[in-house]
Parts: sequence; structure tokens; C-alpha cells
Amino acid sequence: MKEFNFKIPQNIQFGMGSLKKLPEILMENQSDHVFLISDRGLEKIGVVKKIQDIIEAGGIKCTSYLDVIPNPTVTIVNEATALYKECGATSMVALGGGSSMDVAKAVGVLAKYGGEITDYEGNHKVPGPIVPMIAIPTTAGTGSEVTASAVITDESRNYKLSVFSYENLPKYAILDPELIMTAPASIAASCGVDALIHAMEAYISTNASPFSDAMAEKAMELIGGNIRRFVANRKDEEAACAMMAGCNFAGIAFAWARLGNVHAMSHPVSAYFNVPHGVANSILLPTVMEYNALADHGRYQVIYNYICEGAKVTEDFRAEMLVEALKKLNRDLGIPETLSEVGVKEEMIPAMAEDAMKSGNIPANPRQTSLKDIIALYHKAL
Ligand SMILES: [Zn+2]
Repeated sequence: MKEFNFKIPQNIQFGMGSLKKLPEILMENQSDHVFLISDRGLEKIGVVKKIQDIIEAGGIKCTSYLDVIPNPTVTIVNEATALYKECGATSMVALGGGSSMDVAKAVGVLAKYGGEITDYEGNHKVPGPIVPMIAIPTTAGTGSEVTASAVITDESRNYKLSVFSYENLPKYAILDPELIMTAPASIAASCGVDALIHAMEAYISTNASPFSDAMAEKAMELIGGNIRRFVANRKDEEAACAMMAGCNFAGIAFAWARLGNVHAMSHPVSAYFNVPHGVANSILLPTVMEYNALADHGRYQVIYNYICEGAKVTEDFRAEMLVEALKKLNRDLGIPETLSEVGVKEEMIPAMAEDAMKSGNIPANPRQTSLKDIIALYHKAL
């Protein structure tokens, strides 16, 4: 067994309606002025107002930045940082999907240590604790409330840069399944498959440990057993709870075990063609799992049994069965099958492959991968 290290420094509050605990959590954090980071979509459906009201009812001042977009950019981070500094807040609430949390983490770094976000690109460059943050996810999901990365798109390079540091971890996470019950089916599907990929890639990663395995297996059980039911009916309370907890566990698993080729390859797809993260990952998944089959040592069968409820196999299992099951899952959930369907152009493959090779997830992939391999995988997924 390899050496391993882990911690879960966040306080995680889970439960239907747990949002009402926000005022006491804010009090505990002794902040009298909170900076809320979210997006216009959540403003439109009234979720932002609900949170603002809860904060202000606790006698705490709230300044909001609501212009976060999917695949958030360096410009957005700079705008939000300027507003944070100007308003004089001392803590943050990140409300939304992965994008709001990515922006909040980046603001937390820049507000504390200055400079540009590109100065902190790579692993472990953040010098110390960032601005304290409470993460409230509204999708199930990225698991960003428990992960160490802030992924920001640098428009000048069409590149998704990653700031990976355990200093980025939010202090507190409130997981209220009520918040994910208004998601459209397409978002529930692609975010749910993305979370399943977090668990799967962590589970077959070269950095996997008994700790990350435990989190990944429970995540696959919860997500695998509920994703169809949840996409079919987001008002299904039991399925929503299972998805919310499963996505969080998947996040904890990959925060420590890292990911693999699916995520390495999906970031350039999103950076060049603005494809949502979950959609890009879901499309790439069967192709990458087919490639990684050579490195399997019994784990594919475990994954298969978690995602194919009632179809458990104990003998005669073949890796192709998992690849086929993943394709079927995508089809059942209405996810596009190929990269060309979401507008990816063949001529960009060499540039995307170069960028994919820079990802910290390439060394964690179970089968060693060269630039030539990535090019072949993009062609196959096209
Ligand atoms: Zn992901």
C-alpha cells in the first residue's frame, strides 16, 4: 500500500432546509460584512434574494457580485476582486455551481495576496489561508465545496488554468438538497455524470488510497443508484439527497486522489468551444475508459456493479461491458454522443492536445498517456 495523507478540514452541514442554519454559521465566523458571489440565473429564480435576506436578517451586511458565467474568466475574477476590496467585506459566501466557487476561491487568493491569478497557476503556489468562505452548492455537482482547485479561463490564451492549493478549501459547506430540486433535467444529467466521473477517475487514479476509495465507492453507489431517478424527477426528495451527498463524497475523493484523462481533455474543449464542463466530460468518458481498460486491475467491475443496479456480475466481466454501460447512461440521460455534436472542430485538436498534456491530471491517469495518445483520443471522441 502506498503512503497517503488526508484531511477534511471543512465543516459540512447536510440536510433538507439546512440553509436556515446560515445565520448561525455566519455568526460563528464573526463576519459583519459578507461578499456574496453568484450568478444572474440564480438571481432570476429568487435564490439569491433568499440568501441575501437570510444574511441581512442576521444583522450582517451583504454586498453581491452576480456576474459569474459558466467557464468563468480572468476578467470576471478581476472585477469581483475589485468589488470585494472596495466594499470592505471580510468573508465570502459562494452560491451556485462550480463556477461561482471557482471565482470565490480566486477572489479569496487575490484579495489576500494581490497580483494576478496567473501568478498562482499550478500546484501549491498560494502562500497561506485565503479569505474565509462558506460554499452553498446549487447543483449536484462539481463537489467544488470540498476541492482544492480554482479553474479559471484565461481568455488571452483560450486556456483553463488551475490554481491547486489546499488553502483554497472553503471553510464551511451547506448542502441543502432543496436547492438542486429546481435544476433543469439537462443540467441535472450533465452535472450528475460529471460527479460520477469524479468518483470513477479518483477510483482508478494512480494516487488512489484506501481513504479516497471509500469516498469514491460510496459516491458511485449513491450517484449510480439515483442519477436516472433524479434526472427523471428532480422533485424526488430521496434521489435529490442521494445525489447531493454522493457528489460531495466524489469531490472529497478527487480532492485527494486527483482525476485523469477525462478532465485533462475536457478543460481545453470548454476553453476553446465553451462547452459546459459536465457535457464535455460526459462525452469524453466512454472513449477514455476504453483506453484505460488496459490498466484495469479489477476496478472496472466494481464500477460496473455500482452503476448498473440489478445487473451485478461476478464472473465473465469484460471491460467493454462498462464502456457500453456508460454510453447507455449518456444516451438515457440525453447527453450528446460526440464532440462534433457540441461544435468541436477537428483543426483545433493539436492545440487542445498540447493544453491537455499540461494538466496535473495526466500523471494521475492509470494508463500512461503521451501527446500522440491524446490526439488519437480526441479524434475518436469527435
Ligand atoms: Zn468535473
